[in-house]
Amino acid sequence: MITKIDHLGIAVNSIEEASKYYEKILGLTCEGREEVESQKVRTAFYACGEVHIELLEPTDPESPIAKFIEKRGEGIHHIAFKTDDITAQLKSASNAGAKLIHEVPIEGANDKLVAFLHPKSSFGVLTEFCANK
Ligand code: ZN
Repeated sequence: MITKIDHLGIAVNSIEEASKYYEKILGLTCEGREEVESQKVRTAFYACGEVHIELLEPTDPESPIAKFIEKRGEGIHHIAFKTDDITAQLKSASNAGAKLIHEVPIEGANDKLVAFLHPKSSFGVLTEFCANK
């Protein structure tokens, strides 16, 4: 079951540059930065009430984030829904006709399990499911 929106993923060319906006202009506090090797990205998380902002900076030109920025520019990349059972959530989405990018969850940032639905199944907005391990 989906329990809440966990975070919004925002693709940026440079976390260094973008963090100035989130920290100095919005006044948010960075909760941590991390490199996620499997996704070829660096991330920075900001808390905003219950919802988090995840900045995503590509570490490689082959990174999905690099390709996204090349095609669509910087901006909102995905919405992450927290689920209490990511495997069941994926199965139920797939059974209901959604196209999956990940058939099984992968390691995400913040020590979470994550999986993405294909944006063609979700009206142009990439959907992430995430769950605590
Ligand atoms: Zn995310």
